[in-house]
Amino acid sequence: MTKIAKVSKSDAEWRQQLTDQQYHVTREKGTERAFTGKYWNCRDDGIYRCVCCGEPLFSSATKFDAGCGWPSFTAPLAESIVDEHEDRSHFMVRTEVTCSKCGAHLGHVFPDGPAPTGLRYCINSASLNLEKE
Ligand code: FE
Repeated sequence: MTKIAKVSKSDAEWRQQLTDQQYHVTREKGTERAFTGKYWNCRDDGIYRCVCCGEPLFSSATKFDAGCGWPSFTAPLAESIVDEHEDRSHFMVRTEVTCSKCGAHLGHVFPDGPAPTGLRYCINSASLNLEKE
């Protein structure tokens, strides 16, 4: 198993580095409103990195149009690069997805995605930074 270096910053450091919305989503587990983020409708090729720590998380090759208003992927770049947690907030049971390197909240994963994984990683644009190819 790959050992991943952890990134840890103080609240003040994250606030300084991130916009208010990026901070709210990634450090306070917020959710951007559907169809408002910069990547839900993006078809550019490239690698989506964590907006907090720069870790490569998702590839445009696994991105698909889920019609839900958030960028959606069938898989992360590597299984070890995201952590999953049970989330019982808002009267639902969902699986939260976080960046394994810095703990940033990214979004949720649902079992209703297309082949080959059948998964839909529903991710906030505000937690991502696309590095175009
Ligand atoms: Fe990160």
